[in-house]
Amino acid sequence: MSGQFYDVIIVGAGPAGSYIAYELASSGHDVAVFEEKSASRLNVCCTGIISTECFQSLDPGTDVILTKVNSTKLFSPSGRCLRLQTKNVQAYVVNRLLLDKAIASKAQSQGAQYFFSSPVIDIIPGKDGIQAETLCFGAREIFSARAVVLANGFRPKLPRKLGLGKIKSFLVGAQAEIEAKNVDELEVYFGQEIAPGSFAWLVPISTNKAYVGLLATSQAKPHLQKFLNNLSCQGRITSREVEIEQKAIPVGTLARSYGDRVLVIGDAAGQVKPTTGGGIYFGHIGARIAAEVLDEALGSDNLTAGQLSRYQKQWKAKMGKELFLGYRAKWAYAKLSDRQIEGIFNALDSSGMAEALLNSSDFSFDWHSRLILSVLRRSSAYPLMKMRHLLSREASL
Ligand SMILES: Cc1cc2nc3c(=O)[nH]c(=O)nc-3n(C[C@H](O)[C@H](O)[C@H](O)COP(=O)(O)OP(=O)(O)OC[C@H]3O[C@@H](n4cnc5c(N)ncnc54)[C@H](O)[C@@H]3O)c2cc1C
Repeated sequence: MSGQFYDVIIVGAGPAGSYIAYELASSGHDVAVFEEKSASRLNVCCTGIISTECFQSLDPGTDVILTKVNSTKLFSPSGRCLRLQTKNVQAYVVNRLLLDKAIASKAQSQGAQYFFSSPVIDIIPGKDGIQAETLCFGAREIFSARAVVLANGFRPKLPRKLGLGKIKSFLVGAQAEIEAKNVDELEVYFGQEIAPGSFAWLVPISTNKAYVGLLATSQAKPHLQKFLNNLSCQGRITSREVEIEQKAIPVGTLARSYGDRVLVIGDAAGQVKPTTGGGIYFGHIGARIAAEVLDEALGSDNLTAGQLSRYQKQWKAKMGKELFLGYRAKWAYAKLSDRQIEGIFNALDSSGMAEALLNSSDFSFDWHSRLILSVLRRSSAYPLMKMRHLLSREASL
């Protein structure tokens, strides 16, 4: 057993874990972060698209930026293209490895202690503290703290063991880095054949490289392989070998994201945009709220579940409606046929609605519920009426 006693132990050095480590260490707390990967192998399967709002709040430094996004080509199932462009940069594609390292290094500069190659295998709550059982470079060690934050991504074992529930539903995201020709802006492909229930993407990361990926309810890798073959036939891929990586993305939230001396943030809590599977910003908002609640609880030495429940109330107040409508919209979209998706493209394009929405106050890169409601209210095209009907059973439209 290690003699060290911390204020807070954080499990996971992803963007959510390292950001809360930074905030808490900046407030003067003793913080330890345990990460199962080694410092040199922090690689994550992620495209790294974050809004300018998220980038400014994370403040990782401009070195992490690969490309800027101010235009997108949306492709219908038949290949019809709808190009959207804004005057200002809406988002950045960041190098995820550099992003994670930059946030970790900010936390370290405030005094947070990092233990790499150190998976946490168990959390043991006690009356006067809480313990984390770890395998530091393979050697079993126990560390104690006043509180633990689970920021370990979509891994159900530890939250379930602590009686916080389990997120049952998920999507699988698959992605490959390719050498590519003529990929100079973000491309998004819709259609149940291409990516069942979701979408595929092509994202430029340098002049001749791009990420190709998709989200799917199942069989993400075979669908991506098919999509890659199509791109290859079109002569857009120049790489000979392509390695596909995949990762699960939660769809739904944890029943309880707090307990005695415990908080859960980021993907682990289900803080992910259901419409896109993007979790960096919502996890960051979760981390920010958790840091405030935990700072206060540490200050008053009240780390009971009752006190920490404020965290869940606050993050649900900020994101709950957005998540709820996003789940419903995703569910309704999955029920559309490719013909109906084509019909939505027609409605968006022919009436100039897409352009109007883009320039309206309903458009936001991160918050999609207002945009979804606005689209549904503006058009009487049949597929949108169908979505509206499916959604109206649960949401007030
Ligand atoms: C293909 C794909 C593309 C994506 N693209 C985007 C995108 O463009 N924009 C976006 O916002 N989101 C994107 N996402 C989602 C995004 O990757 C996640 O939402 C984000 O990484 C969540 O951050 P996190 O800190 O909560 O968890 P993670 O980034 O998953 O970090 C968790 C960390 O905990 C560590 N860990 C796990 N268990 C333990 C343990 N027991 N002990 C110690 N350490 C542990 C892991 O090694 C990991 O480093 C994408 C996902 C996929 C699959």
